Amino acid sequence: MNVLVINCGSSSLKFQVIDTESETLLAKGLCERIGIDGSISYENVARGLDKKTTATAIPNHKVAIELVLSAITAAEDGVVSSLDEIAAIGHRVVHGGERFTKPVLIDDDVIKGIAECADLAPLHNPANLTGIEACREVMPSTPMVAVFDTAFHQTMPSKAYMYAIPLKYYEDYKIRRYGFHGTSHAFVSAAAAEYLGRDISSLKIIVCHLGNGSSVSAVKNGKCVDTSMDLTPLEGLIMGTRSGDLDPAIVEYIANKEGSSASDVLNILQKKSGVFGLSGGISSDFRDLWKAKEEGSDSARLALEAFSYRVAKYIGAYAAAMNGVDVICFTAGVGENDGNVRADILSYLGYLGIEMDAEANKKRGAITDIATENSKVRVLVIPTNEELAIARETAALCG
Ligand code: AMP
Repeated sequence: MNVLVINCGSSSLKFQVIDTESETLLAKGLCERIGIDGSISYENVARGLDKKTTATAIPNHKVAIELVLSAITAAEDGVVSSLDEIAAIGHRVVHGGERFTKPVLIDDDVIKGIAECADLAPLHNPANLTGIEACREVMPSTPMVAVFDTAFHQTMPSKAYMYAIPLKYYEDYKIRRYGFHGTSHAFVSAAAAEYLGRDISSLKIIVCHLGNGSSVSAVKNGKCVDTSMDLTPLEGLIMGTRSGDLDPAIVEYIANKEGSSASDVLNILQKKSGVFGLSGGISSDFRDLWKAKEEGSDSARLALEAFSYRVAKYIGAYAAAMNGVDVICFTAGVGENDGNVRADILSYLGYLGIEMDAEANKKRGAITDIATENSKVRVLVIPTNEELAIARETAALCG
């Protein structure tokens, strides 16, 4: 079955066409600067054609969807001859609140439910909904599925998701830990079990999704029992530009010092912090930070050290939460590509009986076990593939 996967942001729309029987990526692309000016890039992966980028007016998401549909059906380099060959559409939706605990077929009631969660993800859910509505207008009879970033984490027990603040804030406003990157954590933990030839229901897995946004999760017997992101993606690890954990009193403290508001400070914690902020503004990209460190930058060294230290602390906490760990997985941009970061993190974990294989840690691309034979914990590098996970879920509900 051919599934069109849509990941809609406020001014961008990423798409892929995936054949779910052979799990082959047929085409992919990106519409950018929607509502500003606009461009679309498109690549026919099935035929190995070069990516082409065209500047064109994209006033809204409906126009973006129309452009995507004409790109994938184009006579010269499309991947399907008509839209009838697209059997279903899978949408990434960021926040599913407490209502959505698994992927669902989209109908009017689901659309209402996603809109009701917009309070919890004001930047993302409205953009996701715009993509859903645009697809509905253009392909009204094609079934659509919503796959939620938060759903995988809904198995957390209340002791992990509740905050020690007055209960009424949970009861009245649903303030609690939700977690994000759930599609990736689910995909990677399942891939780890499959790679090891083990039943996931007998494994304790820690997944480190380390990218521009980063989160860790503890997956016990196939179910998420804890994760580092929270009501919003700000808590937990140090990220590209997000601070991760800090004392909430810092918000008021900075606001008072600078005569600014809580939302000004939150903006700094979201966009100017993380390894970018800690390095003194060198970069949020780890490749730049390693280069700066080699050239003698103390602030780049500090940012890299603090990043790995925080990940190691979370792994320790989650090993305690699960009373042990069988497998640690690294995924996403940094986790898959940065062997130095992985080595730094693992250097804290000798007490768990972890031994890293330095040669294996240099490999890139496919799933790799980077622990020695004697290591008491397997350590896997697993390329994540959220689009494939969304396509699989979509096919499962529409097949
Ligand atoms: P993601 O959010 O998963 O796309 O990850 C993006 C981040 O991955 C970038 O900001 C970089 O910090 C990091 N990254 C990507 N490629 C490499 C690489 N080859 N070495 C180190 N870090 C990388």
